[in-house]
Amino acid sequence: MDNYVVGIDIGGTKLATVVADDSCKIVNKVRKPTLADKGPEYAIQLLFDMVYQTIEEASLKLETIRAIGVSCGGPLDTKTGVVYSPPNLPGWDAFPLKERLESEFKVPTMIENDANACALAEYRFGGGRGYNVVLYMTMSTGIGGGIVVNGQIFHGANDSAGEVGHQILLPDGPQCGCGKRGCLEALCSGPAIARRAKEAVQNESNSIILALADGKLDAVKSEHVLEAARQDDSLAQKLIDETAYYMGWGIANVVNMLNPDIVLLGTIAIAAGDLLLNPIRHTVSSFAMARPAEAVKIMPAQLGDSLGDLAAIALVV
Ligand SMILES: [Zn+2]
Repeated sequence: MDNYVVGIDIGGTKLATVVADDSCKIVNKVRKPTLADKGPEYAIQLLFDMVYQTIEEASLKLETIRAIGVSCGGPLDTKTGVVYSPPNLPGWDAFPLKERLESEFKVPTMIENDANACALAEYRFGGGRGYNVVLYMTMSTGIGGGIVVNGQIFHGANDSAGEVGHQILLPDGPQCGCGKRGCLEALCSGPAIARRAKEAVQNESNSIILALADGKLDAVKSEHVLEAARQDDSLAQKLIDETAYYMGWGIANVVNMLNPDIVLLGTIAIAAGDLLLNPIRHTVSSFAMARPAEAVKIMPAQLGDSLGDLAAIALVV
């Protein structure tokens, strides 16, 4: 057998390497902290070691590996494989990731933006199976997006398609990490929900949100808002409804443009389930045009904890 592939998932906090067989079954994985402040040279040497370790522990030889897929925070160039200053990877400025991996391992290597790779994995193995036009949206520290059309990632002119989180909904709204104001991400990411909650709890002594965060305002997170909403906390419910309103508004814009079969929402939407998804569906159906609104399903992503591993593998199977 010489038909194994290696997947590499590069995040701001952790690195993961996996090896999978030709039926996409993951046979071994290794995880290590990224230690992002040590820069790209530290990370690439660590990744080399991790790939060798992943292969050796599975009792495989390097010659059995036919390709490497890499899922990494963007911006990046999928053709040249150069990574350009991802916000979560300081110092990775014009870093030739594909070239470095290919010269070490001598196998074809595909580099992809993590949200795009996740979209492809959901299309191949998860909630997007059987659909032609799939939009995947992360909903965690940021709001990223990936579009898969007929089995192919839609990249746009220079690998910048799918930035659904940076559509501006409120031009005078809160500051976004991208430098603009009032983006969907600045309203609905985990930190954005936490920020709105921190502002709101200061004028709302009846809410249990602060108590769930052990009374520490700085410790309030989106998880506490979800937990409080489940316990019928009216402020938390209001924050969830507000989040669903902006998410639904943003998704409706994309639904009108793309006419997707399905929109799959990650992390926070998975944790929240119908508590968040039902009001999102309601807003989409009232804001989007009738025909695309009728066609689209809005569902939680399905791959859960294995999404990052499968995202890198999906690129090379
Ligand atoms: Zn933005």
